[in-house]
Amino acid sequence: MTFTIHGISASKGIAIGRVRVVDRGRPEATERTLDPSQVEAEVERFRRAVDAAGLDLRAVKARIPEGTRREIAAFIDTHLLMLEDEAISKAPITYIREMRCNAEWALKLERDALVAVFDAMDDPYLRTRKDDVEHVVNRVQIHLQGGPRKKPPPGDAATGRIICADDLTPADTVLMQHQGVAGFMTEFGGPNSHTAILARSLNIPAVVGLHRSAALLRDGDEVVLDGREGVVIVSPADVVKWFYERRRRGIERIGAARRKLRSTPTVTADGEPVVLQANVELPGESAGAVRDGAAGVGLYRTEFLFMNRREPPDEQEQFEAYSELVAALKGAPVTIRTLDLGADKQVDGARPGAPATSNPALGLRAVRLCLKEQSLFRPQIRAILRASASGPVRMMIPMLATTTELDQVLRIVRDCKRELDARDELYDTSMPVGAMIEVPAAAICADIFARRLDFLSIGTNDLIQYTIAIDRIDDEVSYLYDPLHPAVLRLVATTIAAGRKAGIPVAMCGEMAGDARYTKLLLGMGLREFSVHPNALLEVKQIIGETRVAPARKFTRRILRSTYSTTRLALIDELNRGGR
Ligand code: PEP
Ligand code: MG
Repeated sequence: MTFTIHGISASKGIAIGRVRVVDRGRPEATERTLDPSQVEAEVERFRRAVDAAGLDLRAVKARIPEGTRREIAAFIDTHLLMLEDEAISKAPITYIREMRCNAEWALKLERDALVAVFDAMDDPYLRTRKDDVEHVVNRVQIHLQGGPRKKPPPGDAATGRIICADDLTPADTVLMQHQGVAGFMTEFGGPNSHTAILARSLNIPAVVGLHRSAALLRDGDEVVLDGREGVVIVSPADVVKWFYERRRRGIERIGAARRKLRSTPTVTADGEPVVLQANVELPGESAGAVRDGAAGVGLYRTEFLFMNRREPPDEQEQFEAYSELVAALKGAPVTIRTLDLGADKQVDGARPGAPATSNPALGLRAVRLCLKEQSLFRPQIRAILRASASGPVRMMIPMLATTTELDQVLRIVRDCKRELDARDELYDTSMPVGAMIEVPAAAICADIFARRLDFLSIGTNDLIQYTIAIDRIDDEVSYLYDPLHPAVLRLVATTIAAGRKAGIPVAMCGEMAGDARYTKLLLGMGLREFSVHPNALLEVKQIIGETRVAPARKFTRRILRSTYSTTRLALIDELNRGGR
């Protein structure tokens, strides 16, 4: 049966293919074929995992405090009984022996068979018992996969598939890029979550906020994912597939036409030069940015270097990564942002939205974390300084909110320079230091910061989040995420004006800069430096080339004055259609 699920557009493009359901709450099992000589060892490994899961459950039971309701202990007993039941403790052994498959896969096959039996039951209470099967199986799977703390790589066997998950962390997404996934669909997450941004950078179509999609879909279901409209069509009819296939080819044709712009200069229709740079999450992405004519990297998100590993990279490793990027840019400037960890960017792939604090976006993230954990910060600053010896490098501080933070950062930069002097290391003594303006306090006081910094870059993703008080990764409030909110536009205008007055460049590196709907508006507001994800470079360049600044300025004034969002949207439409 064909049906459509509606979500939120996160990364444009169309993917047609089969689904790979990734349940991050459940350890994933992948199939391996065993050599006949390995079979009995695998049976033994399975038995040990079942025993370990039993020990776990008994330990849990022993820790139940006196006076706890009896049903709770009974609940554990049920799980113990299930674990000892032949279905879970013996049937997989038959699979291992007969199919010569690994224990994880054998257990998964048995789990699927049991869940199908429960699913077919009429009695709703009995149907929910399948959750118990899931829990018990998960417990054994966790032991098979190396113990309770180990996280499974959700991207296994994902090549060519459209990943369907409750949620993905940026760390998961990074891992999956190597597996050639065709698209992403997640139940949670907003269009400005780091995962969505990464999907755009990787040019992978994505739809987020598809509530309950993982429950509606099965591994192998065929879907059409329309990243622009934010919809997923399940089991599409042939005519629907044909239609989307045509659209996909149409998108490719537009892309081919835009590729002609790669080597043309970025200037408005009336001849004003504009600096168009790229945002880069991973050094490898710079090739695409250079190919599409980026005039530099306006934002290198260094935190991705710190993800999916136990130890942070040391100074030397960072130096090598930054130098590689500088070399790849062949003399074009590289803006390296210091670590912006915390909130939804966790190093170990921890789940977004499940941090230790209740308000992680307002907590210890970015420069705040760096100033507290200086053993993390100082090696990074030294590495950035050293990379500046081989090409034009700018250092950018994220989440700056107070002048005290700025003082502290500048003092640490001076210390690091002294340390490098003592080591006879080379660096650019006047390496520009700038900051992201992404906290409303910083935008309102942009003049104060502009006097003490070499450049500013507006981070609209966080600026919008903090200005309108909406969590950028929460799809429930993503309808409020409005770059055209007058408060946001005023803060952007204030920042541009402050930079102009202080005589320093102001760029924008938030997603608003790469959204072609806003290009003319931003030009009208006086923005002349855009840093966008590599896939948006040519589209934005094309629109810059079509813009006349004077009429854009006129429209912008009207947009800034208008009270209603409907009026602003109508004006933007008119401006984009070439209104004068
Ligand atoms: C921003 O906040 O706009 C930004 C570019 O930084 P990030 O998305 O990495 O938080
Ligand atoms: Mg930010």
